[in-house]
Amino acid sequence: MTLVQIAPPAFDIDLDLRYATADNFTGAVIYRQPICLLHPQAAAKLAHAVGLARMVGLRLRVFDGYRPVEAQWRLWRALPDPMFVADPGVGSPHGRGIAIDLTLADAEGRALDMGTGFDDMTPRSHHARTDIPIAAQRHRFLLLGLMAAAGWQHYPYEWWHYQLPDAEHYPPVADGSAGQRLVD
Ligand SMILES: [Zn+2]
Repeated sequence: MTLVQIAPPAFDIDLDLRYATADNFTGAVIYRQPICLLHPQAAAKLAHAVGLARMVGLRLRVFDGYRPVEAQWRLWRALPDPMFVADPGVGSPHGRGIAIDLTLADAEGRALDMGTGFDDMTPRSHHARTDIPIAAQRHRFLLLGLMAAAGWQHYPYEWWHYQLPDAEHYPPVADGSAGQRLVD
């Protein structure tokens, strides 16, 4: 199974691949290459979401897609809390290529306020929080509705994480089929 690379012009999105930079919760660069990959079925549903967003003047900004298992280990070692980081021994939907972390931006590419940043591993990142600004609540509902309409399933503890239904039916994708490569 070959993963699909998610990048313009095939996908009209903004890429903000945080694990290819030190701007992530581990504080370290993890991916050598800023590459986003998805399972073909997830790529098709992402294309649907991109189209729905464009219709209402919005863009999708992607933080991460497929994640090699070694990368999952690095996240887990930095924060071994299964509410926010999947235990690599169990497996992550990201390792199956069917999960994506993303947010919304306006037509000019300005990220919408979601109340917390990406990978803010606190209860305020949970869905349906009423203690964040009203505008941020609206933005989260917008992302939730748009992604659900395109066939994605939300994760209650992270507003930025979406995955295909029946995630466990997809096999983990072996490393080497993907191009990020990790920083030593
Ligand atoms: Zn995620």
